[in-house]
Amino acid sequence: MAYFIDVILPIPIEKSFTYSITKAEADFLQMGMRVAVPFGKSKIYTGIVYKIHTQEPLVYEAKDIHQILDEIPIVTQKQLKHWEWISEYYMCSIGEIMRAALPNAFILESETVISKNNDTLLDDSELKDDEFLVFEALHHQTSLKIQDIMGILDKKNVLPVIKRLLERNAIAVQEEVYEKYKPKLVRFVKLHSAYTSQEKLQQLMEDLGNAPKQRDVVMALFSISAKTKKPIKLSDLSEESNASAAIIKTLIDKGILEEYHLQKDRIQYSGEDNEDSKHLNEHQEKALAEIKTSFETQNVVLLRGVTSSGKTEIYVKLIEDVITTGKQVLYLLPEIALTTQLVTRLQTYFGEQVSVFHSRYSSHERVEVWFNVLNNESKAQIILGARSSIFLPFQDLGLIIVDEEHESSFKQFDPAPRYHARDAAIVLAHLFKANTLLGSATPSLESYYNTQQNKYGLVEIKYRFNEVLMPEIELVDLADKYKRKRMKGHFSDRLLEEMNEALQEDHQIILFQNRRGFSPIVECNTCGHSPQCPNCDVSLTYHQYRNQLRCHYCGYNAAMLLNCQACGSNELDSKGFGTEQIEEEVKVLFPDHKVARMDLDTTRGKYGFEKIITAFEQDEIDILVGTQMLTKGLDFRNVKLVGIMNADNLLNFPDFRAHERSFQLMLQVSGRAGRTEKRGKVLIQSYNPYHRILQQVSMNDYPEMYKEQMEERYNYKYPPLFRLIKITLKHKDYNKVSVGADWFAKSLRQFFKSNVLGPEFPPVSRIRNQYLINILVKIPPQQSLSKTKEAIAKINNSFFSIRDFRAIRVILNVDNY
Ligand code: ADP
Ligand code: ZN
Ligand code: ZN
Repeated sequence: MAYFIDVILPIPIEKSFTYSITKAEADFLQMGMRVAVPFGKSKIYTGIVYKIHTQEPLVYEAKDIHQILDEIPIVTQKQLKHWEWISEYYMCSIGEIMRAALPNAFILESETVISKNNDTLLDDSELKDDEFLVFEALHHQTSLKIQDIMGILDKKNVLPVIKRLLERNAIAVQEEVYEKYKPKLVRFVKLHSAYTSQEKLQQLMEDLGNAPKQRDVVMALFSISAKTKKPIKLSDLSEESNASAAIIKTLIDKGILEEYHLQKDRIQYSGEDNEDSKHLNEHQEKALAEIKTSFETQNVVLLRGVTSSGKTEIYVKLIEDVITTGKQVLYLLPEIALTTQLVTRLQTYFGEQVSVFHSRYSSHERVEVWFNVLNNESKAQIILGARSSIFLPFQDLGLIIVDEEHESSFKQFDPAPRYHARDAAIVLAHLFKANTLLGSATPSLESYYNTQQNKYGLVEIKYRFNEVLMPEIELVDLADKYKRKRMKGHFSDRLLEEMNEALQEDHQIILFQNRRGFSPIVECNTCGHSPQCPNCDVSLTYHQYRNQLRCHYCGYNAAMLLNCQACGSNELDSKGFGTEQIEEEVKVLFPDHKVARMDLDTTRGKYGFEKIITAFEQDEIDILVGTQMLTKGLDFRNVKLVGIMNADNLLNFPDFRAHERSFQLMLQVSGRAGRTEKRGKVLIQSYNPYHRILQQVSMNDYPEMYKEQMEERYNYKYPPLFRLIKITLKHKDYNKVSVGADWFAKSLRQFFKSNVLGPEFPPVSRIRNQYLINILVKIPPQQSLSKTKEAIAKINNSFFSIRDFRAIRVILNVDNY
């Protein structure tokens, strides 16, 4: 009898590919093992065994595999099931999921580039002959393609050799440069080496005679160092000497003290002394009990707890319960919220049982976590990770927590699989009969809708921990302030008053300015009105090259206006203002205070994000200007005031979710104010203070926001009531892509009638010389999702059978919002 395997290849082909194997191989192989296989004329790929059978393929002759790469499966059956679901739901190939799911080092192929790992010291004599040849070659060339290695070794079956070298850590697979995740950096100080001699030191103390505070600091440094004989933390020095961070900073600036950073785990790691989790207060206890009751009948529960209500401590209790039964826990977070703040917090409770999984991890580190999870090791019992950690090979998952479940970064937009990690996580939990807890202060409409439909359970906490009051929110009318000349730059007199007060009381301030403020929306300088699409619930975008206003959902367009439709003013402005400008203004307005900025630009470098957060935590920054990065679950103790510079460019963003997102964002930023005893204050500047969303934000009225937005969604046929599939066509020829899109849309209309929008060029319609054009399919609640996808897939197939269209790329995005 002949034996065959179906293999998943990491490429976007629709089906798995069949190879021929021997009887012995058939006996050995299991689903989920890797094999090296030839593909096309000369390519080699790593594939995953998907099925073992005896049916010869009909249309092609099955080739032999090159080699078996694993002794045990590295991908579990449950994962393969999960991949199947993702592939079907998100309309992508299983190979695309394989590529997203596996660490790079698992997918060796002819194009893979490898290089020597200089961190490893290796004894050449340990290497087998073929390994040595490759290693040797890498002395002369910094990197080699696997193809080249086939030449060097003069054989095709080279992947096992590479694999062995990888396992020895002798070589590394080249990849984008990953920034390794580093635990929190703690700041230390010491006396500058220039003052180590007795003489110099005496001189220094004399010099500091008229600066008694600085002198005290240096004295304190000596006394601590005499006592502990250990490195001295900046915070300890500050405490011991009773000196402010500013005084110590002066000494550092003068070069008297020297600062340096050490990783937290290096200095205080002791493995055992985990803290006990906290005693919950009555609201938390009640919520925890309700969650548990709810889990008896529901697999998914949404915890809506206001900011700072102590949701994390509730998660901790649930995690404790699950890990005592030996099961695994996945704690999902948006990438950006995966800060040391939270990691440290969980490590104090669970110590070594927490593993962090992160796209910034190197491939090597990811492989390590992969195997720890696969082998159900105790050090990976709790996985804290971003989106892609849903792809880990869990053995016995007991609970998934999706924190900040409303965050849009859980959705992957490019490349395929275009999955939503929250939704894919729920399916994953189902496969294990495990529970999922979604948490947020401002849930997404779709999750809240699911609770209202009784698909998910709902548990709420309405009080902040320690009975701290929710911050007081005040709306400032920009139109009025401009008219009465009460503005300095972008700052109203009210905001300046509050800032002065906060600074006098030594509190910190956060100023929020949306990065998206740069999107080309037209806004009236006099009344703040911005022109809306008559067919959709979105603002029109300004297209400079055609001098037009366009709706990028339905294609509605109009010539650019000369006067404001609302007030007639001719001061129409299409510019936004950004964080940088705000920072500049603050420097001028508050020259005596320290300002810093946190946005994509300032956090790009290594530890950029961590450094700013740490500096802010340690009170070295008085005023922090930032974008939505500031919203992600950060816990700052001393922030009293939050200023939202301009709410309108959030509200007017051309997207059907703009209002929902504005609500979430503003409440999340507000949540950073007054997290301890003092009640915080939030000032929101807007041309439109009577906007319903702003009223709802100021009342913290989620139910009202939900009700109103759902009506809008109903009227305009948007999620969560309707579903959306976005189809994007891409080609470098404008005409070709237009004609193709027309054909595609026309075919879709035969099935879906008026529920097809477009084709429409997006505001940025040419990217890297490729024109993009979008078609949107809206799927009514009663219409079958699977039938809809079938029809779309069929049309897609016919599309590619037309010769002229073959070169056009078609991108399907299910739930594209
Ligand atoms: P959320 O995630 O709901 O915004 P957190 O879990 O961050 O709230 O809690 C807010 C603050 O209150 C944190 O500093 C946390 O340490 C503290 N806290 C919460 N619950 C407790 C508790 N039961 N005992 C002591 N401190 C708590
Ligand atoms: Zn429109
Ligand atoms: Zn106007």
